[in-house]
Amino acid sequence: QQSNGSGETKHFRIPEIKFTKLFINGEFVDAIKGRTFDTVDPRTGEVTAIIAEGDMEDVDVAVQAARTAFDHGQWPRMSGFQRGKIMHKFADLIEQNTEELAALDCIDAGKLFMRGKLADIPGGARLLRYYAGAADKIHGEVLKSTRSLHAYTLREPIGVVGHIIPWNFPTSMFFMKVAPALAAGCTMIVKPAEQTPLSALFYAHLAKQAGVPDGVLNVVTGFGNTAGAAISKHMDIDMVSFTGSTEVGRLIMQAAALSNLKTVSLELGGKSPLIIFDDADVDKAAELALNGVVYNKGEVCVSSSRVYVQDGIYDEFEKKLVEKAKAWKLGDPFDPSTLQGPQVDKRQFEKILSYIDIGMKEGATLLTGGKPWGSKGYYVEPTVFVDVKEDMQIVRDEIFGPVMSLMKFKTIDEAIERANNSKYGLAAGIVTKDLNVANRVSRSIRAGIIWVNCYFEFDIDFPYGGYKMSGFGRDLGLNALHKYLQVKTVATPLYDSPW
Ligand code: ADP
Repeated sequence: QQSNGSGETKHFRIPEIKFTKLFINGEFVDAIKGRTFDTVDPRTGEVTAIIAEGDMEDVDVAVQAARTAFDHGQWPRMSGFQRGKIMHKFADLIEQNTEELAALDCIDAGKLFMRGKLADIPGGARLLRYYAGAADKIHGEVLKSTRSLHAYTLREPIGVVGHIIPWNFPTSMFFMKVAPALAAGCTMIVKPAEQTPLSALFYAHLAKQAGVPDGVLNVVTGFGNTAGAAISKHMDIDMVSFTGSTEVGRLIMQAAALSNLKTVSLELGGKSPLIIFDDADVDKAAELALNGVVYNKGEVCVSSSRVYVQDGIYDEFEKKLVEKAKAWKLGDPFDPSTLQGPQVDKRQFEKILSYIDIGMKEGATLLTGGKPWGSKGYYVEPTVFVDVKEDMQIVRDEIFGPVMSLMKFKTIDEAIERANNSKYGLAAGIVTKDLNVANRVSRSIRAGIIWVNCYFEFDIDFPYGGYKMSGFGRDLGLNALHKYLQVKTVATPLYDSPW
């Protein structure tokens, strides 16, 4: 493997970047207008690759390809077993290219290389295998009619799907959306985030090698307000599945409503509370809380950005948290000993620093962190604010960086009320040894996933999605497969027809 010459690391030889064009109808092609954009290595700020910039016309061509593949092609018509076989082959090819794919997500998003190699990339292959196993088990049911009718349901693929995905988990997001849609028999256009196009294009290449027919999986790289908007308002797309900010989710829903009323699934922002009760092991709880906010540099929709600690252990917790935050190792994400790499890009880096500034102006106190780290790249220190009030912007808004608001509470009722005091409802964590407390809080918090004595614990079978303004629809599990299917009823007279 060659070096691409930019941002070489002493820990890993960065592979040559092979795929930079749009992938439409089984071919890599330039954008119709010939435009391109740069993708940048957040460790250095240097350009790593020049990528084709798809726009409305390119989306249109991709949709035509996907429409033809859906209306007349093999994919929705072949048996689920055959689709599953191709998906398993796709997974095999991912497993043969794990290091290269992990390196692409690392130089695109600043994600930890080892985590990519051990978790995200094999996780993509696992998602394909999970849904491949479900592809031949899709069926409707016989209905018990109260009249003399024989009636049954069919589960049919929803059609052409537009997947608009974010930059924080380029591989996991790709397969959380693409794998169930492929199993269902849909055809699709994926628009990866402009910050992280590299692995998505590689996956398009592997899909073709695995035997996914042309037009079934198209990847259009480009920006949100052009290529993304073209997907959400396209008249020939049947569904849009989106993960990203609440603001953009609203635009997508609006565009869907104003165009062809396509089905919409939205996984949006969060400001998730972690509630730590007096009976917790303080050391472990501090570890959990820190990891909850610095994991993937805080660029996680379920990040535990509001931490509520009961007053009996608060002082000790604060001390431990600071010690752990100061010992947290930032650095090159290719270095296996690094715990936190750079933020995805300059814009996100500046947004986080501006929120830290807002927090100080609002009167919050910096307990630790608050500054950029290192001499180059987009690193931000793990940051903890205290003396915060619920109406401050840093407590209300999703910052999407390693910034925690730490607060004290007295009673369980107060904790529940304050945890629920957010427009978001994606996730929550509870740390306690008391089962009654855990049960009561789990049922009282309006969020899509509740972690008791843990945080960030996901599995393919766990439905994932939001309450309130964190969106609707669920990824993962068989719920996600059903999202890409629709139900048709067929009825016929049971005895001789009266006419
Ligand atoms: P962030 O603000 O953190 O970058 P976004 O929600 O803007 O998150 O981005 C998530 C995805 O949505 C990306 O693929 C982005 O290009 C896309 N996107 C951004 N704006 C729009 C839009 N107006 N319509 C459709 N997609 C968009």
